[in-house]
Order: sequence, then structure tokens, then C-alpha cells
Amino acid sequence: MNHSVPFSFYLNLGKQIYIKIRNFHIQLNLFKGCIKGKGVLMSFFQNENQREYIEKLAMVTEKFSERAQMLDETRGFPFQNIQDLKDFGYTKLTLPKEYGGLGGGLYEFLLCQEKIAEADGSTALSIGWHVGITHQLKEKNSWNADVLQEVFSEIGQGALLNSAATEAKTGSPTRGGRPGTTAIFENGKWILNGRKTFTTLSPVLDLIQVSAWVEEDEGIGWFLVHREQAGVSFENTWDMISMQGTGSHDLILDRVEIDPNYYIEKPGRRKTQGEGWLLHIPACYIGIAGAARRYAIQFAKTYTPNSLNSPIKDLPNIQRQIGEMELQYIQARRFLYSVAEKWEEDRDKRPELSRELGAVKTAVTNASISIVDKAMRVVGAKSLERSNPLQRYYRDVRAGLHNPPMEDAAISVLAKSVLED
Ligand SMILES: Cc1cc2nc3c(=O)[nH]c(=O)nc-3n(C[C@H](O)[C@H](O)[C@H](O)COP(=O)(O)OP(=O)(O)OC[C@H]3O[C@@H](n4cnc5c(N)ncnc54)[C@H](O)[C@@H]3O)c2cc1C
Repeated sequence: MNHSVPFSFYLNLGKQIYIKIRNFHIQLNLFKGCIKGKGVLMSFFQNENQREYIEKLAMVTEKFSERAQMLDETRGFPFQNIQDLKDFGYTKLTLPKEYGGLGGGLYEFLLCQEKIAEADGSTALSIGWHVGITHQLKEKNSWNADVLQEVFSEIGQGALLNSAATEAKTGSPTRGGRPGTTAIFENGKWILNGRKTFTTLSPVLDLIQVSAWVEEDEGIGWFLVHREQAGVSFENTWDMISMQGTGSHDLILDRVEIDPNYYIEKPGRRKTQGEGWLLHIPACYIGIAGAARRYAIQFAKTYTPNSLNSPIKDLPNIQRQIGEMELQYIQARRFLYSVAEKWEEDRDKRPELSRELGAVKTAVTNASISIVDKAMRVVGAKSLERSNPLQRYYRDVRAGLHNPPMEDAAISVLAKSVLED
């Protein structure tokens, strides 16, 4: 038998090299830095900088995979992972360059979030809020300029930021319920009182955007709260089977005095133009699914029960599961990154594209849940062992259903967009 590899190679005078090995056609885009071709996993890098950054980030996140099981079992918070990301500079990824940031955009943010989530979903979702909100602030630029500058400078020095909007009585703030947290103006200060649930990153947060009912303005306003302020505390209430490591405890506000400058958004001022940043949510869940997919493929290649003469990868039923998993994985990532690319490319198209943001979130989250399910079917009962990462992916990936936008709302937006056109 001839074992020589049929191989051909030519260089396009433009920017590409074509390589043919047996039936595989590989196209290397020299300047775009991506590899395309039949039989080759497609990468989504737009340029060499992104590839290099993700490769370096992957060296940091390798340790997250090793820590994930212990953190999950002990219900711990990933302090070390967050510190490692800070040391690497990731918390400044989307911060404008003049504040010491990298000035990164939405697309690279999503690539990074997916990579971090492959290693640890909780760490990815947690840091995703901070990096995403920083991006949103840069895009919207709707705060008082002095406060925005101050916040960007603090982020440049390592401060972490998130929003606290959910409350036990309102449920998801996207439903428009009136917050029980109140802001009342007394003696030249706003006084905040209330309790927020689901405050992700709470063990390490420095700055918190808090929503409150403002009686004077008859609506929901936003205030910037500093962790060290008198009357701010956290109660360790977060006890979940999914994404336990996000540290999403309750935030308590007991007569917290807020300077009028930190009344950052008056009712009705929230603009929707920057909402592309919320794609960090589907990026996180497809990252978790990617880890499950990789585990199942490796398992199928190496597991040979003694009823068989070769690994289970050769069985038609396993190939079917893996093929279907691959179909969903490709669809989900293509959808996510193509919408992200369009969102960044053309600001004028954003109002039109905004309905697709909810569609991406819904489709990618559901695909992620289904991919993890299929990966577990491939692995069989071993996927349920406590020491097996698949059971953690299975629990973590479900949280995506309860992050915004909610599925029924996203579907309704799509329906209305065509019915009321
Ligand atoms: C891991 C994780 C991290 C989070 N981090 C944060 C964070 O950092 N900051 C933050 O503010 N929030 C955070 N959240 C909270 C999140 O944004 C939601 O507010 C929370 O999950 C509650 O959503 P829910 O749909 O379960 O609750 P609910 O809104 O109470 O809904 C419960 C059920 O009732 C239905 N329902 C309720 N109201 C309506 C309505 N008006 N119309 C139609 N159906 C309705 C829902 O569809 C659902 O079936 C986080 C959540 C998770 C899971």
C-alpha cells in the first residue's frame, strides 16, 4: 500500500496559501490569520493579534480548568482566577487606551469569553459582566463626563464593576417591574435603601450600578455605589447547583448616601444602542458546550469496551451523536460571530440588528444545552460521576436560560418585527 500523502501547495498572489492533503483543502489567510477548509475546524479570528492574545489567554485559563472541580465542590469563589485575569490585563480589555486599557472591541471580547468559559463557566460569566459593562460605557458615553473618567481611571487601576438590578419581588428586571430599592433626596444627597439579589462578582466588586425607584422622577434611575461606602454590605445567599462560582450574593443598601453626581442615569435615559455587549452571555454558554464537546470527542476516540475491537468512535450511533453535536456547534458559533461582526461593522444597522441579538442569545444558549446533553449521551453513565466535568457543564449551561434576554421576550420581539412591520 502506498502511504505517501498526496500533497499540493500553492501561494495566491493575494494573501492566501492553499494546501491540499488527500481530500482536505486548507486555505491559510495570511493576513486575516484564520484557517478555512474542509475537514478543518474553522477558527473565527479576524486577525493575527486576536489569535496571539487568545493563545496567551489560554495559558492563563489552563489553570482554571484544574481548579474548577474543587471550586464547585467547595462552593468557592474563583478569587485566584479573577486575580490571574487582572494580572494578565484582561479586566482592561475593553477599556479605552487613554486609561491604560487595550481598547478592545466586542468581537475580541466574545472570543475571550468563549475561551475562558471552556475552562470555567462561572469565571467567564462573572468577568464578562465587568468587561462587557466597560465596553457598554465606552460605546454609550451617556454618563456625566467627570464620573465616567473617574470610573475608567479606577478600572485602569484594577477596579471591578457590575450592575445590581434584580430583586426577589421583581424577578428579572427585563420584565419592567418596579424595584423595591428606593432613592430619596434628603439634604443634598440621595439615600438608597433596598436589597438586590443575584449580584454576580460580589466577593470582589468595587463599583456597582444599582437601579432604584426614584419617587421625585417617577421612574427607575441608576446610581453608582462604591463598595466601601457606609451602609453597603453583602449577605452570602448564593446557593445554586449551577454557576455557583459567580458569587451572586445579595447586596444590601442601608441608608447609603449618594452624591448627586453619582445619579448616573435618570429614568428613561437607558439607551439600547450598546446592547451588543450582552452577547458575552451566549459566548459563555457556547464555551461551556465546547468543553463538553471536546471531552466527548476525546472519550469516543479512546474508550474501547471489551465488546468491541476498536474505540466507540467507529460506531454509527456515536458518529450520529457527534455529527449532530458538530452541526449545532458550527451553527451556534457562526450565528454568534457573524452577528457580532455585523454589529461592530455598521453602527447604522444596529437598530435593525438588535432583534438578532435576542435571537443569538436564545439559539446559542439552547444549542449549548443540547450539545452538553449529546456529549453526555456519548460518554454514557460515566458522565454522571461527580469527578466527571460533564456533570458540572450540564448544571452550569442551564443558567443561560435565566440570563437576559429571556427566551419568550426574544421570540416575541421576532414575531412582532414581522407581524407589525
Ligand atoms: C448565574 C446568574 C447570574 C446573574 N447575575 C446577575 C447580575 O449580576 N445582576 C443582576 O441584576 N442580575 C443577575 N442575574 C439575574 C437574572 O438577570 C434574572 O433577573 C434572574 O435570573 C431572574 O430571572 P427569572 O426569569 O428566573 O425570574 P422571574 O422574572 O421571576 O421569572 C420566573 C418565571 O416567571 C415568568 N415571568 C415572570 N415575570 C414575567 C412577565 N412579566 N412576563 C412573562 N413571564 C414572566 C418567567 O418567564 C419565568 O418562567 C443573574 C442570574 C443568573 C442565573
